[in-house]
This record gives sequence, C-alpha cells and structure tokens, in this order.
Amino acid sequence: MTDKNLPEPPEHLSSDDFRKHGHALIDWIADYWERVEELPVVSHVAPGAIRNHLPPNAPETGEPFENLIKDLDSVVMPGITHWQHPSWFSFFPANASPPSVLAELVSAGLGVQGMLWSTSPAATEIESHVLDWLVELLDLPASWKTTEQGGGVLQMSASDSTHTALVVARHQAAKLGISPDSMVAYASTQTHSSIQKGATVAGYGHITLIDVDEEQAMRSQDLRAAIDRDRANGLNPVFVAATVGTTGTTGVDPIRSIGEICRNEDLWLHIDAAYAGNAMLCPEFRHHQDGVELADSYTFNPHKWLMVNFDCSVFYVADRGPLIDCLSILPPYLKNEASESGAVIDYRDWHVPLGRRFRALKLWWVIRSYGAEGLRSMIRYHVALAEQLASRLESDPRFDLVAPHPFALVCFRCTEGDEATTRLIEAVNASGEVAWTGSELDGHPMIRVSIGQRATEQRHVDALWALIDELA
Ligand SMILES: *Cc1c(COP(=O)(O)O)cnc(C)c1O
Repeated sequence: MTDKNLPEPPEHLSSDDFRKHGHALIDWIADYWERVEELPVVSHVAPGAIRNHLPPNAPETGEPFENLIKDLDSVVMPGITHWQHPSWFSFFPANASPPSVLAELVSAGLGVQGMLWSTSPAATEIESHVLDWLVELLDLPASWKTTEQGGGVLQMSASDSTHTALVVARHQAAKLGISPDSMVAYASTQTHSSIQKGATVAGYGHITLIDVDEEQAMRSQDLRAAIDRDRANGLNPVFVAATVGTTGTTGVDPIRSIGEICRNEDLWLHIDAAYAGNAMLCPEFRHHQDGVELADSYTFNPHKWLMVNFDCSVFYVADRGPLIDCLSILPPYLKNEASESGAVIDYRDWHVPLGRRFRALKLWWVIRSYGAEGLRSMIRYHVALAEQLASRLESDPRFDLVAPHPFALVCFRCTEGDEATTRLIEAVNASGEVAWTGSELDGHPMIRVSIGQRATEQRHVDALWALIDELA
C-alpha cells in the first residue's frame, strides 16, 4: 500500500554512473601523479581568485557529474600547491600513496562511524592491532600495546594528540587538588606551536620555555632549574613536552635526562616526534630517543613521512587508565553490552571527538603494501639524499649549515650574511621550480630543505643544488 501523501524517494547518482565517474577519477589521479612534476610547485593565485569562479548561490537542481570533474581542472587545480611534487622541499612532506588513497576511498564508501567498538568492530580492532604492530616496528616499550597497559589511538593531528596529553595530565593533577591556574607546562624554545596552543586550550596557567643548546636540544639542566624556580614561586609543574625532531631544524631533546627529571618530580612526559618518529622504523635512528620508556605519552604522524595521506596521527599512552578516566562520559544512548563487558576498546574515550572515521584502513594497507622493509628503504633513501646535499653545502664556502641534520632536513644560510640568504630564498622561490621554506633561527634568516616527498629522486635534489649554485 502506498501512501499518496508520501513524497518521492530522493534521487542519487546511479550505480552505473558512480562506476563510470569513479573509474575516470582514478585515472585522473594517476594522470595527476604522472604529470605533477611539470606543474609549478606552488600556487600563485591572488586571494579570492578561486572563489570568484564559484556562483554566488548553491544550485537548486543537480548538475551532470561531468561538470564537476571538468571544474577540477579549470577551478581547483590553479589553486593547488603541489605537496606531491618531487621538488617539494618545503615544511615537511605530506605524502599520498596508492595504497593509502585506495584505502581512503574504501573507508569513504563504507561510511562507517567507529565511535564505539560495537558501531563497527573491524574499525576498532584493526586500529588497535596495527598500532600494536607499530610499537614493535618502532621499538617502543612493549607495555604500550593495547594488549598490555597502554595503547595507541589514531587522531587527526599531532596537535590533537598533544592537546589530549595535556588534558589528561591536567586532570590527574586536578584530582590532587591542584588548581589549573597554578599548573606549569614546559617545552623548549624550539618546540612546535601546538604545545603552547594545547596548553592554552587545556587551561594551564603557565608555560615555561627552556633554552636550547647549539644543537637545538633542550638544556635539561635549565629545565631542572626552572622547575625549582617555579615551585619556589608557588606554582605547580605538571607537564613536560620533549621533542624528537623539532620543526625548525629537527633538533632532538635529551629524552633520558628529561625523563629522569620527570620521574623524580612526578611530571607527565610527552614526546612529540611528529616527523622524526617515522624514522624509528630503522634501528640506526633509535638512539635519538634513548629513554623513550620514561614517557607517559608519545605522538608521531604517519601522514608526514610514512606514505599515509593526511590525516593520520598516532598517539600512544604508557597507561590507558588515566586517559579513559579523564575522557569517558557515558550518556544512556551509548550504553551497550560489549562496552559494559569491559572486553572491548571504545575509542570515543581516547580523544576529544565522539565520532571517528575508519583511518586505520589506510595505515594497515600502507604497511602491508610496502612492507616494513619498503618503508625503511624509503626513509633511508631520503636521509641519504639529504646527507648528499648537506655535504655539498658544507664543502662550499658560500654556505653554512646552521644545525645538525640527523634525519632528512637540511638547514643552511649564506656565509655572506642575512641579505644574501634572503635574496637566495626569494630567487629560488621566484623560479617556481621548487618549493622550500625560508625561516629564521636566532633572529637570522635560514633556509630549510626537507627531503621526503614520495617521488623525489636524486635528479630532483641535483636540480635543486644546481639552482642554489646558480642563484647564490
Ligand atoms: C608537524 C609537527 C607538528 C604538528 O603536526 P599536526 O599533525 O599538523 O598537528 C607538531 N610537532 C612537530 C615537531 C611537527 O613537526
């Protein structure tokens, strides 16, 4: 029996059309990856230029899908900066890769929402399992596995991971009667802005920045002294963020001595290894995080240097008890038998959002498709290319390296002075052939060259060197 008052069911793209356009778009992405090298790396459109192509109002009726695809080339592409360009040497990499993109597509097609174990057990269990794999692959403490006391969870960004750690540490301290106004979080002057932002959002009354040495590493003696000074002033030290691979220069804080201070003083130690954590796949880099077992939490971004497209940030805690204690709130509509049995993980209790997508699929597929060896050889290749560029710069009297290069970031400036460095930054940027980052260290300009894009080969770094040589 049909109810005549009921409206018609909504129309959708037909299954045949979905296949047709889907296949065409996979071709479009493959073509893009093949031709990206010929495109100018950085978009130079004027502000508002893209928006000017868009009609002032949303369409009332649906358009043929072909129009949408056509606008990719005419409207979208001029406003794209090509992070997938092999001459991408800016910031840090943000790689996409075939297995990652295909997994992302499947995740979208399934459209699952993994807030609870019961809302898609596969989303939760694959995530827990793959993050346990990574504990072994990165040689992190075995107790951080979900099968033990700790556990890993995927977040959107390292900023979210760090913010979560700050919130949990604050909660623990507040339970002891400490007022957030008097709480202090510590980090080095070279720390990423997300730590200061996270501490502000989490309501810490104070953040104390500790000086670095000439290798850009936090001076742990100064941390010690700052803690004593703050205590003497009636404040309550709570949280220390140590960085393995700072954003500016990939400086490495001394994890063990910082960790020992945190143990003695009963402070939460969080390690931000957003970029460099990926290198820990290779044993030869692990000495940089000696003492990692002293950490309470740890974050790194597979979406930077592990072939997993944005977003995918890993957050580990050494003990999941305080995390869940802080973030679990159970409204009646989320109650279910599996959760009450205590036998499952409900990831909604492991971060700020309730809803969560099936991000683990792309991480799982990337690790399986490349294998740990494939990923290690990618890291080693980039590090070797960086080493080669660094030795060219080092042996040329026109340039000075400004910091050690333990991973695949090389920072340098012109010996002639600030003006020459600034001129070189601008001349290379104006060439349009590469992207790199002009930055500052100790109040003087410097140049960051980050090598780590998936398609970058020796010839691209050679071309960059030729450009530096010509324009310096
Ligand atoms: C990139 C970076 C971050 C921020 O990562 P998001 O995932 O963008 O929040 C934090 N810390 C360090 C050391 C980084 O290099």
